[in-house]
Amino acid sequence: MKPETNHVLDVKAADMRQRGTNCTNLSAGPADTATALRMSLRSRIMRSVKSENTLPELVVRSTLHRLGYRFRLHRPDLPGKPDIVFPRDQKVIFVHGCFWHGHDCVRGARVPKTNRAYWLSKIARNKARYSTQLSALEALGWQALTIWECQCRDVPALTRVMNRYLRRTSVVLKRQKPFSTRSQPIQA
Ligand SMILES: [Zn+2]
Repeated sequence: MKPETNHVLDVKAADMRQRGTNCTNLSAGPADTATALRMSLRSRIMRSVKSENTLPELVVRSTLHRLGYRFRLHRPDLPGKPDIVFPRDQKVIFVHGCFWHGHDCVRGARVPKTNRAYWLSKIARNKARYSTQLSALEALGWQALTIWECQCRDVPALTRVMNRYLRRTSVVLKRQKPFSTRSQPIQA
């Protein structure tokens, strides 16, 4: 299972690099080629944003697995259907595409010039919806962490952010039953 996951990650990472290459080449190519590439790029962005199990999600999940965290995916009964759920700790993680959710980064600022007002309004609606979902989660006693697509390129930094968010959980777990006779799930 794990080698296959890594393979998928490698393939998708290569795809992501390719996407970056296409993007820098856009201005240099002939107009029709540039348009085709731009449309292809946009449809890829759209796909990665609208679907579950995106590359950033896979990176976050595999990092969490490696750290020994256990979690549920896409729980539909919680506001916003969070990508990653830690039921016992009442904590969730949302993995957001920078374009779709209007992140304040280079990728998030890359709004298409065509139909710009449409995209900006759509992104604004997404942000407003997310804000509402966070409030609803908070009202139910849940904590939420937003992980951005761009953060997933730096796995060591990503690891630190997630450990900081979840640390209290693992410390409590380790201290609660230090001499338990029952075997504990391995956290490594
Ligand atoms: Zn970003």
